[in-house]
Amino acid sequence: MDMMTINLKEFKEMQKTVNTVLLPIGMIEAHGPHCALGTDVLIPREFVRRLEKERGNQILMAPEVTYGHSWGLASFPGTIDISAKAFSNYVFEICKGFYENGFNNIILFNGHGGNISSLDIVTEKLADIGVRTLTINWYVDYREDIKKIAANPGHAGEDETSLVLAINEKYAFTEGVGSHEIPLAKRFRFKDGGATLYPEAFSGDAENATAEKGEKLYRMMMNLILKDIDTLWKIEQQQERR
Ligand SMILES: [Zn+2]
Repeated sequence: MDMMTINLKEFKEMQKTVNTVLLPIGMIEAHGPHCALGTDVLIPREFVRRLEKERGNQILMAPEVTYGHSWGLASFPGTIDISAKAFSNYVFEICKGFYENGFNNIILFNGHGGNISSLDIVTEKLADIGVRTLTINWYVDYREDIKKIAANPGHAGEDETSLVLAINEKYAFTEGVGSHEIPLAKRFRFKDGGATLYPEAFSGDAENATAEKGEKLYRMMMNLILKDIDTLWKIEQQQERR
């Protein structure tokens, strides 16, 4: 069910049977010279479109949080960086609003690496007030399986660029883009370090991305996501039995 398009009457009816909401969380950020600035919003949106077909009667699809936090790429043009504090408070308040509307299962579908540490804080606070959450960071959680399809993943790398191409081939290009390795472990942090880690605002082998790989990645990850959602519901059943 798409929250953007249902009315109050339909919402109240749905509340009687649905207590799970999916909140997509993205970012507007430089993604190499070759991927859309909205990549981290476009990919969660595509997953939502597919999940709606599979679990649309059990999950409320909430409108997305478009802007997030990006320490690493804040210096690049096209990145709109919200501080970790403001961002995590904002996301917490949104989730609290859903909880007060009867949704005690919240799926945070995150498209952007820089949001992860903030979302950790958010989900700890939510758990403390009684909300069950599942956070999906697809590029981290399913990385080993991703590598079987896109061997050289990364920020706007082979995996992410392929996923964008599978949505619309106009939203990314690969010709002459090449490949970048992250030169230093991310645990070294220093002023303007982000530009050192991401020399052209990307990592991985973007040149090898294709729409076909993207479609394979969506199908592979959809199965894993559905399993993760089932686990969240199993946790709910176990808690209710106690
Ligand atoms: Zn991205």
